Amino acid sequence: MDCKFCKIVSGELKCYKLYEDENHIAFLDISPIQEGHFMIIPKKHGEYIFDLDETEYTEIMKLARILSKKLKDATKAKKIGLAVEGFGETHLHIHLMPINKAGDLDPCKHKRASDEKLTEVYNHLLPFFK
Ligand SMILES: [Zn+2]
Repeated sequence: MDCKFCKIVSGELKCYKLYEDENHIAFLDISPIQEGHFMIIPKKHGEYIFDLDETEYTEIMKLARILSKKLKDATKAKKIGLAVEGFGETHLHIHLMPINKAGDLDPCKHKRASDEKLTEVYNHLLPFFK
């Protein structure tokens, strides 16, 4: 299957990995809406969050809350926003990003960041995710 996120799970594609457990992996979005924007994906390929079984759904949402606290500590944002769309990559992913006002989750603000910038953000966030 030609899925970019499955390739990240298998290690075939590199990512700015912030977190990993048995069933999930979290990494920076390389086209962030906000600085510090990252995604959580289940390792198992699935396409629609509300198709997850009860356990999978609960686990990924629990993880989103845990990781949101780390992102909030790292960025000092007022809130952490959560969004799920899934029209770009089909592999289910939850977006988490720092938000400070209405409209900060606007997907039209997606913009490819330079590797230099991503590395800088990654190095800042990583200690908070240990
Ligand atoms: Zn996949």
